[in-house]
Amino acid sequence: MTQGTIFDIKKFAIHDGPGIRTTVFLKGCPLDCWWCHNPEGRRPEPEPMAAGLNGDAPGDAVPVGTHMSVDAVMAEIEKDRLFYDESGGGVTFSGGEPLAQPDFLAGLLTGCRGQGIHTALDTTGYATPEIVARIAPLVDLFLYDLKLIDDRQHQTFTGVSNARILANLCHLVKTGRTVVIRFPLIPQINDTSENLAQMGALLTDLGLQRIDLLPFHGIHRQKYHRLGQPDRLGNLEPPGEATIARVKNDLENGGFTVQVGG
Ligand code: SF4
Repeated sequence: MTQGTIFDIKKFAIHDGPGIRTTVFLKGCPLDCWWCHNPEGRRPEPEPMAAGLNGDAPGDAVPVGTHMSVDAVMAEIEKDRLFYDESGGGVTFSGGEPLAQPDFLAGLLTGCRGQGIHTALDTTGYATPEIVARIAPLVDLFLYDLKLIDDRQHQTFTGVSNARILANLCHLVKTGRTVVIRFPLIPQINDTSENLAQMGALLTDLGLQRIDLLPFHGIHRQKYHRLGQPDRLGNLEPPGEATIARVKNDLENGGFTVQVGG
């Protein structure tokens, strides 16, 4: 029985694709983004996280991450079937990076397909072409993260080259997959006119029209402390309304349909 590692199952999600959804968060990510909003999803194995939120006693540690079978996750997913059907929703696989657990992900997607449940994959696209080719036909909607187009900057702020990410995006578009771009807006890092212009040129070439703008909010920061991980953004403030409006206008002037939030 195929097993995988998840760190959350969020019910009644409304920002992870159309309708009412269940979002399953797969643990493990090959990237190391400075602004990671889910730092508990980066390491592949379960790990302790110091308590302090949600009423936990300070000082206690809570485990983050659990091994589950495809059948067990599907049983959770199927509980809310009625809501998916009535709202045009479904299931979103997020992370971490779901493509880092390809067998588990393929099992879950196949299970959803068999049940007629709509699927979205929230991904940064960092995987081998073979994995992407295997997974893509099982996915109804790709929510594809684009962060920085300049490869040197991408390596600095995420730890990996974006060559594979951009190649996989091109492949998905050229093979007719439905793709919505998600752009995490990190002030002073990727909100430059140069990055916006480069991203606009690439997406125009690909014929993609919709961009979801996800402003950095910083509310994840306590998690870094709880996990004993450094917060490399220091005192960086979330973008203000003026910055969000500027970036949105820039992209809209390039012909894109921009939605703030997912
Ligand atoms: S790709 Fe997502 S999960 Fe992975 S490090 Fe970056 S923000 Fe975190």
